Amino acid sequence: MKEAKIWFMNARAHRFLESTAIKGRQILEYSGWLDRLEPGDIVAVKTHMGEAYNVGYLRPVIVRTIVEALKARGCKPFVTDTTTMPYHPWISRTLAMDYLETANRNGFNQSSMDCPVIIADGWLGTDDITVDLQGKGNYLKKQFVARAIADADAMLSVAHFKGHPAGGYGGAIKNIGVGCASKRGKMNLHGALAGDKPIIDLSICPGKECEWVETCVDCCPEGAIQLTEQGLKIDQELCVYCFACANLCVNMAGVKGIQRFDHLPALGRRIADSALAVMATKEPGKVFFMNFAVDITPVCDCYGWTDTPIVNGLGVFASYDPVALDKACIDAMNRAPGLINSDAEDFGALEPGAKKLNLIKGKDIEPQVYGGVENGLGTDKYVIEEAPLDRSQGAIARFYPEVRARKLKGMYARSHPLTGLDTASFGLPTEGVVNPRHPEKKTGQG
Ligand code: SF4
Ligand code: SF4
Repeated sequence: MKEAKIWFMNARAHRFLESTAIKGRQILEYSGWLDRLEPGDIVAVKTHMGEAYNVGYLRPVIVRTIVEALKARGCKPFVTDTTTMPYHPWISRTLAMDYLETANRNGFNQSSMDCPVIIADGWLGTDDITVDLQGKGNYLKKQFVARAIADADAMLSVAHFKGHPAGGYGGAIKNIGVGCASKRGKMNLHGALAGDKPIIDLSICPGKECEWVETCVDCCPEGAIQLTEQGLKIDQELCVYCFACANLCVNMAGVKGIQRFDHLPALGRRIADSALAVMATKEPGKVFFMNFAVDITPVCDCYGWTDTPIVNGLGVFASYDPVALDKACIDAMNRAPGLINSDAEDFGALEPGAKKLNLIKGKDIEPQVYGGVENGLGTDKYVIEEAPLDRSQGAIARFYPEVRARKLKGMYARSHPLTGLDTASFGLPTEGVVNPRHPEKKTGQG
């Protein structure tokens, strides 16, 4: 496979039109992808609208600005994501109803997006279609894809690039591989339908002495956990490895009694297989990927907290190829210096060139990339083209259709805010101002 093209804009911003949200729309327009869409096309804008109390997910204005570009093309976009497995006991996105409440609280709704916000796999995550991978998958033979996404004419993946506990990292492949899978599709890609089960070490579980035991028993949707006189009992047959008890045990009880990491290389490949199933629902060229590599935190937006970033914001990356796109983001992250007061410092990953998330996670984080190359989803070879920023008067007029400051002139003529005030009685001027200029920069661009 030949090199994939990646369009890129740097995260730095100094003046008007350099907003990350505006760069997102400009890079999308510059790529030419919009020309492949027909007016009237229904476009699924797949993003992650954040878990309750997470503050690292993509800002709604980034998605809204992209929606505006699609509407300007005459398309019918909808912003979308899918229901989750529990993942942890307090997850707020397992039902469509709960997810819509969380999305609303996080700033994603019909009025903020100016288009419908739809949970693509329905009320309980069973509104899906089954895609046969026709022998191309690394592990998956079939996968469940959320119906609203499968039925759309086109899809735009708008992903937040950052770390992820099980996937190693999250970007384009995971945004569609996990994010477009219905609930039972998520069970499938985590290995449950094939028989992968968590490893449970009950010898370190204090049973009824654990202060979290009630939640531990209650959070299992399969009813697989029971508290007996002899301690905790887990029915492995019933368990679908939804991570609810595992995350409770690791993150709150601090015991790590239920976990499994040996199957993570397979999980990464299954995510890539699931992404391939999603791509099979679209005509060639009707899917495009944007990774916003900003707020690059060590874990994902599915948790109810957000750690400090491990490297500075890198920028906006876009491509037709999700594998090359993720690989370009991983490489750029690794080239960057790590940030102090972050996991990069805690895990000895401060040096430019250090494989940041490999060191932080203690494992190779790239199985999604390997799996995507192996199943034909894409290539890990890429060439980066820096997309120029349009700073013209026309661009200003597009993003700022009115010079709002102008309106004040007439209003001030009728009623000036300072009319009738003895302005000199309100304070003293600053003394000793000798140099009113901006400070000179020591390095970098102006
Ligand atoms: S026992 Fe299995 S199904 Fe039940 S909460 Fe734990 S991981 Fe999920
Ligand atoms: S949270 Fe962990 S330690 Fe506590 S009861 Fe559950 S398995 Fe045992």
